[in-house]
Amino acid sequence: MSLIDQYNRKIKYLRLSVTDRCDLRCFYCMPNGFDDYDEPKDWLSFDEIERIVTSFTRLGVSSVRLTGGEPLVRKNLPELAKRLAALPGLDDLSLSTNATRLARHAEELRDAGISRINVSLDTVDPVKFKKITQGKLEKIIDGLLTAKAVGLDPIKINMVVMKGVNDDDVEDMLKFCLENNFTLRFIETMPMGDTGRDAVDYYIDLHEIEARLEKSYELLPAVMAGAGPARYVQVAGTNLKIGFITPISQHFCDTCNRVRLSATGTLYMCLGDEHKYELRPLLRQGISDNDLDQVIRDAINLKPLKHEFNEKPEKVIRFMSKTGG
Ligand code: SAM
Ligand code: SF4
Repeated sequence: MSLIDQYNRKIKYLRLSVTDRCDLRCFYCMPNGFDDYDEPKDWLSFDEIERIVTSFTRLGVSSVRLTGGEPLVRKNLPELAKRLAALPGLDDLSLSTNATRLARHAEELRDAGISRINVSLDTVDPVKFKKITQGKLEKIIDGLLTAKAVGLDPIKINMVVMKGVNDDDVEDMLKFCLENNFTLRFIETMPMGDTGRDAVDYYIDLHEIEARLEKSYELLPAVMAGAGPARYVQVAGTNLKIGFITPISQHFCDTCNRVRLSATGTLYMCLGDEHKYELRPLLRQGISDNDLDQVIRDAINLKPLKHEFNEKPEKVIRFMSKTGG
């Protein structure tokens, strides 16, 4: 069984948001002071999530990433991870986190079956970190070092690079990742919601960053296991791999293999589009497994050919934290 969209792309990967809440306020993601969250009664329960993921695995999806908002804000997340990791056909369960609560949970997440994690970190300068996120850098570093100590591997650091905000931190981030054996991935700013659109003022084409790094480092083409869209290079003479995620300057929609499920059960076909399908009401009305599989197949056909971040930056009104970035 496989899920193939109308453009012949095979969908193998589900990004699963478990909450739209977050304990940080990265300015490009969530508005300062924002608290207009989803109602708890609308959150999918763990049973409902497990049912949907089971349906996806029946349809050939083998990778799931837990995300949010901040997924570790959702109570008992390791319990959910354990249930999902046990599903037949699910080979790869990963987590995207801001790491504020990682020190406390890294070991139980590993034991639950999380194989790899991505951590958002835009700078290793504590003052800048505070400005960007409103949070404390030391908690993140503590979380990262604990994750490394308990053997989560690989650990990928996701850095949204913004001109005049943190583009001059790229070399420090590179050294930090080299020292700690983390993979470093640069991401271009996307116009998601008002916050993302405002942050586009700081947009920088990552090809510029690559060209700058090439003056100091020899960068060799590399590959990295994982279901993501990053293009990788390796710093010669080291183990450090660097990924470039370029949704704006060089989109990768023709190889897109993923869809996203929000914490309230909305299936989004594309980060840069409003095409969606509401699964929660169907679950709560008692839909059968067969019908759920068929609904997911039908929904996949809504997946657009490509995002329109460049052509219609005003299009996506929801914040990244709502979709499950
Ligand atoms: N809270 C977790 C975290 O920060 O990793 C998971 C959710 S967060 C929405 C997922 C990723 O989306 C993060 O790496 C974040 O930097 C990225 N992100 C959020 N808003 C963005 C934007 N406007 N453009 C590009 N990336 C964005
Ligand atoms: Fe929270 Fe992640 Fe968004 Fe930052 S990027 S505000 S950590 S959800």
